[in-house]
Amino acid sequence: MKEIICIVCPNGCTLNVEKNGGEITVTGNKCKRGEEFAVSEMTRPMRTICSTVKTDRADIPVLPVRVSADIPKEKIFAVMDEINAVTVTAPLKRGDTVIKNVLGLGADVIATSDILSRN
Ligand code: SF4
Repeated sequence: MKEIICIVCPNGCTLNVEKNGGEITVTGNKCKRGEEFAVSEMTRPMRTICSTVKTDRADIPVLPVRVSADIPKEKIFAVMDEINAVTVTAPLKRGDTVIKNVLGLGADVIATSDILSRN
C-alpha cells in the first residue's frame, strides 16, 4: 500500500494505492481524475512545467512559458536545460511556440504572455 497526495486539483485528496500483480486499486479519491492520477503515478508519472525563457530585450528580460502537454516526470531537468538554453526575440504572442516538440516528447514549449507581442 502506498499513500500519495493527488495534485490534480486543490482538494489534495490522500490516495491509497495498492498494486496487486498487474492490478492497481485506488481508494481515497473523490473523483475519477484522482484514480487516473494514481495509476499514472504508479506506471508513468507525468508533470507540467511553467517557467521563463530569456529574451534579447533589456526592458523585458524574461518571457513566461509552459509545456503544451504533460511530460514524463524524469524528463523535467532535461527539459529545463532546453528552456534555459533559449533566448527569444520579439515579436512573440501568447500561444506561440518557443521550442517545437521539446526533446521529442510530443510537447511544445509555448509562450504564456503577450509581453513580447510587439517589437
Ligand atoms: S481525487 Fe479528485 S477531488 Fe481529490 S484532489 Fe484528485 S482531482 Fe481533486
